[in-house]
Amino acid sequence: MEICPNCGAFVEDDNQGIRFQNSTYCSVKCLKERIPDAEVILENQDPIEKQATQIHEGQCPICGRLGSVDIYSSYRVMSFLFVTTFQTIPELSCWRCAVKAKIKNGLITLFIGWWGTAGIILTPIYLLRNLFGCIIPATRKPSKKLKEFVKNQIEINKINNE
Ligand SMILES: [Zn+2]
Ligand SMILES: [Zn+2]
Repeated sequence: MEICPNCGAFVEDDNQGIRFQNSTYCSVKCLKERIPDAEVILENQDPIEKQATQIHEGQCPICGRLGSVDIYSSYRVMSFLFVTTFQTIPELSCWRCAVKAKIKNGLITLFIGWWGTAGIILTPIYLLRNLFGCIIPATRKPSKKLKEFVKNQIEINKINNE
């Protein structure tokens, strides 16, 4: 465990913090407050990391709030006439919008998940996945999924520009 040199918050493990010049900061915001030049140094980082950080610190594409924008997943089971479909639905949004999506898909699952053989088994599992997803806090830095998303976007742009 380390302590953020800017705000004094505990950083539980290196994966959650921003490592910079032998210190671990709790967020990019704290790093920038402490070392204004850090941005320039961070810009020299890997472009995927850089873009992912910009998205993470930027506006939610759904509600426009700033920060903790990441790829969050919600889970949905739907059964019709004993045929069950189950989906993991990833979405780029802030944490609040992600919780809303989990509640919405949790409710859909609760009402129409059960009506199939597989639905009876999957519905409680998917309800719990949504529920636990609401308890897990917002990411402090871009997740692996967000970095993969950025990587794919860069690839798509390359293809479009050719
Ligand atoms: Zn801090
Ligand atoms: Zn939002």
